[in-house]
Amino acid sequence: MSLENLLRELESLEAPPPQKGRFPKGHRVFLEVLAAVRRHLPALEGAARRLQGLDPARVEAWLEEALAQGGIEPPPGLSPEEEALLALCLHHALRRHLVPLGKGRLPREAVEEARVPPTYPYPRRCPICGGEADVAYLEGDGHRYLVCSRCDTRWLYLRVGCPACGNTDPYRLDYLPGERGLRLYRCHACGHRLLAQQVAIAEGLDLPWLRAQVPLLEAREDVRVPPG
Ligand SMILES: [Zn+2]
Ligand SMILES: [Zn+2]
Repeated sequence: MSLENLLRELESLEAPPPQKGRFPKGHRVFLEVLAAVRRHLPALEGAARRLQGLDPARVEAWLEEALAQGGIEPPPGLSPEEEALLALCLHHALRRHLVPLGKGRLPREAVEEARVPPTYPYPRRCPICGGEADVAYLEGDGHRYLVCSRCDTRWLYLRVGCPACGNTDPYRLDYLPGERGLRLYRCHACGHRLLAQQVAIAEGLDLPWLRAQVPLLEAREDVRVPPG
């Protein structure tokens, strides 16, 4: 699958962590991400060519805004496909800078470093970078851990609870089981969905593979959850 291959290749790109919220090599990393997209997703070639000529200073300013969780102001005249690709490339360029901060950290270490008490209420956002979880896993010990979409830090979260809205009502939460230990958690209070995988040990988690399953599920009608 080409998205999975793209995500695997991006894992090997290295970039220095941000310094004081700035990204001195941000544009170079952005272009490396874009080059990988062009290799693995040739259908996006037209959109990718448009993004090639973006102003380097602007790209680095967008990375700073994305780090601060702010929305970016794309240049006028981009098509919806170009805007979506820009958001994807900025997300993955940001990841290349942030993963060195979070990679390989066990949840307890990450939580201690961020001085967040590892007790209820568990943080709904990443204790290292403030990002949202995009996937999760259930370990053999029966606990559920969230994985930061931006820096890969893992942290303990409620097994029955929605990290998007904080809902803990078991009658308004469920999951659909899938192959290879997949579980698609659904919150009927806010419509949030979160893909998780059951693994015996955390080292068995294959994040590029797991993340590549998310858009496949997005396309399925039966997993949509109307809020309310
Ligand atoms: Zn993070
Ligand atoms: Zn929710």
